[in-house]
Amino acid sequence: MHPVARLDHRHVWHPFTQMQDWLKEEPCVLVAGRGAVLRDIHGREYLDANASIWTNLHGHGHPRINAAIRRQLAKVAHVSALGFANEPASHLAERLVRIANPRLVSGPRLGKVFFSDDGSTALEVALKQAYEVSRRSRGPKHRPRFLSLKGAYHGDTIGAVSLGHVDLFHRAYSGLLFRSDAVMAPYCYRCPHNRAAPERADARTTRRCQWECVDAVARRLESARKRGTSYSAFVVEPGMQGAAGMIPQPPGWLRRVAGLVREHGALLIADEVMTGLGRACEVPASPDSAKAPLFASHQEGVQPDFLCIAKGLTGGYLPMAATLTTREVFDAFLGEYPEFKTFFHGHTFTANPLGAAAALASLDLLESRPSLEARARLQSTLETELASLWSLPWVGDIRRNGSAVGVELVRDWTQRTPFDLREQAGIRVCRAMARRGVLTRPIGNVVVLMPPYCTTPRQVRVLVATLREAIAETFGPPSGRLLAAKRI
Ligand SMILES: *Cc1c(COP(=O)(O)O)cnc(C)c1O
Repeated sequence: MHPVARLDHRHVWHPFTQMQDWLKEEPCVLVAGRGAVLRDIHGREYLDANASIWTNLHGHGHPRINAAIRRQLAKVAHVSALGFANEPASHLAERLVRIANPRLVSGPRLGKVFFSDDGSTALEVALKQAYEVSRRSRGPKHRPRFLSLKGAYHGDTIGAVSLGHVDLFHRAYSGLLFRSDAVMAPYCYRCPHNRAAPERADARTTRRCQWECVDAVARRLESARKRGTSYSAFVVEPGMQGAAGMIPQPPGWLRRVAGLVREHGALLIADEVMTGLGRACEVPASPDSAKAPLFASHQEGVQPDFLCIAKGLTGGYLPMAATLTTREVFDAFLGEYPEFKTFFHGHTFTANPLGAAAALASLDLLESRPSLEARARLQSTLETELASLWSLPWVGDIRRNGSAVGVELVRDWTQRTPFDLREQAGIRVCRAMARRGVLTRPIGNVVVLMPPYCTTPRQVRVLVATLREAIAETFGPPSGRLLAAKRI
């Protein structure tokens, strides 16, 4: 084992990882990256098929982002936002306000930006601000209540976990959490109201239903109103629930639900930590940057009251997040000093100049024509290549929004029979992919593909072919070669 791998084994505790399994084999130590390719300490190269856990937009080692970080580094690496402003964060705030308020989307203007470090903190900020605004408008005795979706994942800090509803992750901490309510999320492939039999197509396109999932939200909002305990805010991952298993919403769902939420006077918190910055957004067939949405909410014509951005904000180079909100929310915290209406919240590295410099460079790239064309190409290549997976009986559903893809593995596609989680179907397939030089990470039985936007059509073909081979190897009849090996 490489000495660095040995150090990792001895001391590092990895997130969301059964360390007993981790310690059984030599970990892959990544040392370098260029574009969509990563290299390990032994010199082996891999395609980064999940953009280093959904963060990397333009590829590794991009000269423009690297240069922006170096330029800022030559000035100063960090100064505090507690008491001081800095150059890149001020420019970045203006830039974020611009992209968060496109001309074609109407609704509240998101003109104020609170910086933090990661997705969880971006949600904590929105949560606390919504909580306070609600208490201040409805009186100090009011206990603000939050509604979110079944399967929702909003991060791992306690507030964010309280808003989340992934049993497997969240059950253990139930004693630490405040209560939030969960309502049915659209999941067309496994929807009890979908009367369509499984087909070899994205279940959203074949579904037969009456929008029962929207009715469920309406009923929930209505019953809270009748009890006099109306919700303060509705929290949602627009377009697609990520950690729930890459579960996309059928077009029209968010628009309908946002309308209901507003009718009931609740605030809308959009968690675009995964979906934002073009990730789960469709580039129109003839790329026109004025029309290409950068946020999944905007794709539905919805403008939230809070917009949480993190993962890809710096192009995936440095930890940084932003929570955008309205003048009304901001104003609720204004007052004379002795009133103590200050927003008492902050993180040490809030508005870090290096992160902001990287983010500005990443946004320059994101809004450039070549990047827009690359995204359009990536989406259409994914669409074409993924279709080949329908020939595998262990593929139940293939779903894609923009360049975020989930491939749901099943024991029997005709019945949608899932694999038992203990069989580690997703983990085994991803291991087989890694052996073939493609890195990603499953969510249960769902294999995630989320390549950087710079991934070339040739690389996409390799990536999908590798997934196809890995699935066939994992569940199919043993190949001749394996049989031969056993006989020896
Ligand atoms: C990853 C993620 C988070 C949490 O972000 P961290 O940076 O890991 O704290 C929150 N919401 C969504 C939708 C995410 O995908």
